Amino acid sequence: MGKSIAIDGPAGAGKSTIAKMAAKELGYIYVDTGAMYRAMALYLLRKGVDRNDTTAIEKACEDADISISYENGQQVVLLMGENVNAFLRTEEVGNMASASSVNPRVREKLVALQQKLAAEKDVVMDGRDIGTVVLPDSKCKIYLTASSAVRAKRRYDELTAKGETCDIDKIEADIIERDHRDMTREHSPLKQAEDAVLIDSSDMTIEEVKDAILAEAKRKL
Ligand code: C5P
Repeated sequence: MGKSIAIDGPAGAGKSTIAKMAAKELGYIYVDTGAMYRAMALYLLRKGVDRNDTTAIEKACEDADISISYENGQQVVLLMGENVNAFLRTEEVGNMASASSVNPRVREKLVALQQKLAAEKDVVMDGRDIGTVVLPDSKCKIYLTASSAVRAKRRYDELTAKGETCDIDKIEADIIERDHRDMTREHSPLKQAEDAVLIDSSDMTIEEVKDAILAEAKRKL
């Protein structure tokens, strides 16, 4: 097992931005587990699978070949050998990922992939169940959150910067719905691990959050 920092929290709390920065400073690999659930969702969308059709989702889960590689230190998600990074960060894929990730078969498949990566390398891994299920023995666990209004504003700014038009109230409503689904699902719900440190980033800058996490890593690892 390599060294690890496990970061969990709801959508838009800043996990990936901060995990990437922390990984770079420490010389660890950044593992974005949400991207794996998104790749599975992309496969389901491309196959036209209904999000409520459990049988079809489990069949797709057997057929979908998802793997990870690294290019210039960046995580690349391969779906059937194709680099699908460019297709993963849409609201449609995110919503399908949230819906299909409730399925235990989907989770088993991707958790195995995540544990394999952490066994081979030192990692900063972010997701919803890293401290609780994927890396329960990690010495450094962070639960990163922020208010839904702040998270919606960040997502809104990110989308408008890319030239997309969007409605901030709709984004916040989607965030609240997704949080609810992630926190109340039967398998591996989003929750703070008992030994995780809570960081609320609502009134913090990215630098402040990164420094708090690096300080925690220094203390614990
Ligand atoms: O973090 P991101 O928004 O990319 O994740 C997309 C969805 O994938 C989440 O809403 C969540 O339902 C699911 N997910 C999960 N477990 C993880 C990472 C993501 O269930 N470890």
